[in-house]
Amino acid sequence: AGRTGYGRTGHIKPKCPYSCCWHLVVECCRDHRVHHRFSDIDADPHNITRGFFFAHMGWLMCRKHPDVIEQGKLVDMSDLAANPVISLQRKFYVPLVALIWAAFPIFNLSWPYDKTINPVECNIRHCGVHRLWCHRTYKAKPVLQYLLAFLYVLAFQDNIYKWSRDHRVHHKCADTDADPYSIKRGFFFAHIGWLLCRKHPSVIAQGHTIDMSDLDHDPLVQFERRYHVPLALVLWGAMPTLVPWYFWGESLSAAWFICVMYRYTYTLNSTWCINSAAHYWGDKPYDKHIEATECTIRHVMMGEGFHNYHHTYPWDYSMSEYGPIDAFNPATMFIDLFARLGWAYDMRRAPRDVVKQRMKRTGQPNVTAKTNRKVY
Ligand SMILES: [Zn+2]
Ligand SMILES: [Zn+2]
Ligand SMILES: [Zn+2]
Repeated sequence: AGRTGYGRTGHIKPKCPYSCCWHLVVECCRDHRVHHRFSDIDADPHNITRGFFFAHMGWLMCRKHPDVIEQGKLVDMSDLAANPVISLQRKFYVPLVALIWAAFPIFNLSWPYDKTINPVECNIRHCGVHRLWCHRTYKAKPVLQYLLAFLYVLAFQDNIYKWSRDHRVHHKCADTDADPYSIKRGFFFAHIGWLLCRKHPSVIAQGHTIDMSDLDHDPLVQFERRYHVPLALVLWGAMPTLVPWYFWGESLSAAWFICVMYRYTYTLNSTWCINSAAHYWGDKPYDKHIEATECTIRHVMMGEGFHNYHHTYPWDYSMSEYGPIDAFNPATMFIDLFARLGWAYDMRRAPRDVVKQRMKRTGQPNVTAKTNRKVY
């Protein structure tokens, strides 16, 4: 009692109004004690009368009901407050979680495979489906097209054709009902919710108006579209499971969970962040009238987080005012590398003076200056 974080004797102040700290023994026990004392009413943290989904996981995705917080403060937690192990876990919660999450793959044989395949796959996906096929920001020789299509399948997202059509609609109709992952419908919808429900009729209607003639007549894209699922089952699932198992004796289950499931979770969420976080957090130096931002957490997006710029100049191959070195943009680095090999050519770039004029006209003035100092 009396130390930081502790209220009156026997009480521990709740950490935050969300339930996100539920790995904390004290938070978890507090919620559960409240749940037992006030089952099935507003003060129940996972009140079943608010529906199956809410009781299952919805309660972790929204603010606690005021009654839950109120009762949580009154519940007797003196036994846990006096327990040194529980207090230690509470004090070092964030570093402990970070350590365990980081250490988990390191102590595993699958780690080298996962750590090489993961960044390559992310960058290739951005160079291929987004910058080449969807936006046509540069041209690629057949050898590069095959490489990009082959490695794209590792990610097991939508096929190239569908991905490109949805994304073209996203650019054409950004932040309206016709935007497949409109941020106007909330962070969760833009991140993953759009994949969990039917498309809005306007999305389908706009999808029909998009010019897809370039991809309609592209034999490689059509081949990938046709054999997407069987190809993915081999490249996304079987190969990453079997390679560590066969070549360096990893167990099948560890290879599956690290090299497929862990990698899939990571790459999907980093991609989804472009639709959610990069329309949510960050400055708008190029166009303040759109929702896309130069995202604060863009480093997880491998060069795709300069999203205010990207929505202003979708055809720019760097997807940023800057190149690969002066801003962290590994996907641009890959394209530059391919250009050196002669595989990529005709890269399109917005002229610097045009960009500067545009920033003056439509950008947020206070962040324009910041950008000039090369913060991005
Ligand atoms: Zn219980
Ligand atoms: Zn966007
Ligand atoms: Zn785009």
